[in-house]
Amino acid sequence: MAFSPLVDELVDSLRCLPGVGQKTAQRMAFHLLERGRSGGVRLAGALNQAMDNVRRCSSCQNFSDTEICQLCAKPERRTGTLCVVESPSDLLAIEQAGDYRGSYFVLMGHLSPIDGVGPEEIGIERLLQRIREEGVAELILATNPTVEGEATAHYIADRLDGQNILITRLAHGIPVGGELGYVDGFTLTHAFRGRKPLSE
Ligand SMILES: [Zn+2]
Repeated sequence: MAFSPLVDELVDSLRCLPGVGQKTAQRMAFHLLERGRSGGVRLAGALNQAMDNVRRCSSCQNFSDTEICQLCAKPERRTGTLCVVESPSDLLAIEQAGDYRGSYFVLMGHLSPIDGVGPEEIGIERLLQRIREEGVAELILATNPTVEGEATAHYIADRLDGQNILITRLAHGIPVGGELGYVDGFTLTHAFRGRKPLSE
């Protein structure tokens, strides 16, 4: 049913969000129009700004407004320890746990040949280049404990075979099949402290 092309377009646009189907999109649209106009205007402005200006940090691949993100720009985070995560929400979860003070590399995904995601798509060459250039002493492979996350960790470890780098993986506490972004800070801190070499 079409009673307003503008409302239809708004509903259709909202459906690009994950987990939002037709009914939810309609509810969101009607809410914004009925009771949330100022929020809607703010949302539109924020979306415009973010879509135009947010890019990927040239060092860690995380989202950033600038060429180098705020975290990579801090010299005190260059500790010789580099932590590889799958997504920005994983990085945030580790940062919020507060125990880790090194730097990051965000893959923005994991290896998934079925979906056409290979080493190039997740920036493996850039990661290896960074490890060489920065003289990384420890690489923490904090990919998710899923089949794809494990495969990605092992692929990276294989590419570094024979190099003098301690390669570690997060230990106990992270539920198998789970995602780091949903793990509480205490569990994550515990897992971080208990990390061990990948080969064990
Ligand atoms: Zn960065």
